[in-house]
Amino acid sequence: MNIHEYQAKALLRSYGAPVSDGHVVTRAEEAKTIAGELDGPLWVVKAQIHAGGRGKGHFMEPEAGEKGGVRLAKSVGEAAEETKKMLGRTLVTHQTGPAGKQVGRVYIEDGSGISRELYLALLVDRQTSRIAFVCSTEGGMDIEEVAASTPDKILSFSIDPVTGYQGYHGRRIAFALGLEGKQIKQCVTLMGQLYKCFTEKDCEMLEINPLIVTDAGDLKCLDAKMGFDSNALYRHDDILALRDETEEDPKELAASKYDLNYIALDGEIGCMVNGAGLAMATMDIIKLYGAEPANFLDVGGGATKEKVTEAFKIITSDENVKGILVNIFGGIMRCDVIAEGVVAAVKEVGLKVPLVVRLEGTNVEKGKEIINGSGLDVIAADDLSDAAEKIVKAVKG
Ligand code: GDP
Ligand code: MN
Repeated sequence: MNIHEYQAKALLRSYGAPVSDGHVVTRAEEAKTIAGELDGPLWVVKAQIHAGGRGKGHFMEPEAGEKGGVRLAKSVGEAAEETKKMLGRTLVTHQTGPAGKQVGRVYIEDGSGISRELYLALLVDRQTSRIAFVCSTEGGMDIEEVAASTPDKILSFSIDPVTGYQGYHGRRIAFALGLEGKQIKQCVTLMGQLYKCFTEKDCEMLEINPLIVTDAGDLKCLDAKMGFDSNALYRHDDILALRDETEEDPKELAASKYDLNYIALDGEIGCMVNGAGLAMATMDIIKLYGAEPANFLDVGGGATKEKVTEAFKIITSDENVKGILVNIFGGIMRCDVIAEGVVAAVKEVGLKVPLVVRLEGTNVEKGKEIINGSGLDVIAADDLSDAAEKIVKAVKG
């Protein structure tokens, strides 16, 4: 689960990390009052969306000469005006995809004078199974370009979980970043705060880009992006409370309400499968026959008829879905339960695309009876490759 920049900064502030003062605006009529609560002389107006690259992004239907999702203002009035211009509009960045994201919240912050822009991230390094610090002297809006053309300018260190974070890790980062004087001590302290936050809150990713040296020579977190391990959220009510459902794919959101393992993809074949391994194999074999899956969906072992019905509704609500493949190997899951769910869902929402069903395992005969007796226009398949071949053929002709 990801959170907004202003939420991440509040969390970092609670760990003692240096961030600017700021306030979030959700309603245009509050913009002026809220901007007036900050002293100036510089204000930064920042669109809050769960995607990076806002500074270099652009709004849909821009006015002539209009800037992106991060703007500087020189007065309360100007800050309020820029805020109003952003609220409710759609911001497109290289991370949002062409559809962009709607801006429902704008963060107004005290502006900082910048002398250097650095890059810093903490993440889970799956190769070493450790938390890693990643840093670069080349922070700011072009870090992707740095990674592509001069990867040697990005350094990474992993932390042994037995010792945890130690001062020498912080000093190593400070020297790698070319920090000097008081900044070295600030860096050692800040890295410790970030590491503590990362581990205590079960983060997956914490990115500060840019980490700046202010014109007064102090370190400050000027941007903050945080992601959390969804499987650990049960023990972090404070983090869960920061969830912004408007940022999530509506289909994935609906699926999460029914405890379905669903991930939306770009293809044309909707899949309903039980078991993560079988779901992966189904996606592979769809590709093998020349089409692309529209989703990953594991209905799980203990799915009920209601859960299967919801899953089927989520698949059919996807306009990209041109055909559906139901692939069930009944173990704990019984084929008749799946069949009942599919029939119930089709009765409720109709079926406008071809449907291939492959059932095998527990109660398979009963399941086939339910499907065959339902009057549904179903293409039956005997095994996995037969099923994939049939659905691809039905969709692509
Ligand atoms: P992103 O584009 O989504 O990564 O948004 P950032 O928060 O990183 O802001 C983009 C850029 O705006 C930064 O790299 C800075 O150059 C600039 N910026 C952000 N905050 C300030 C500020 O307080 N003062 C100044 N002078 N520039 C800022
Ligand atoms: Mn940034």
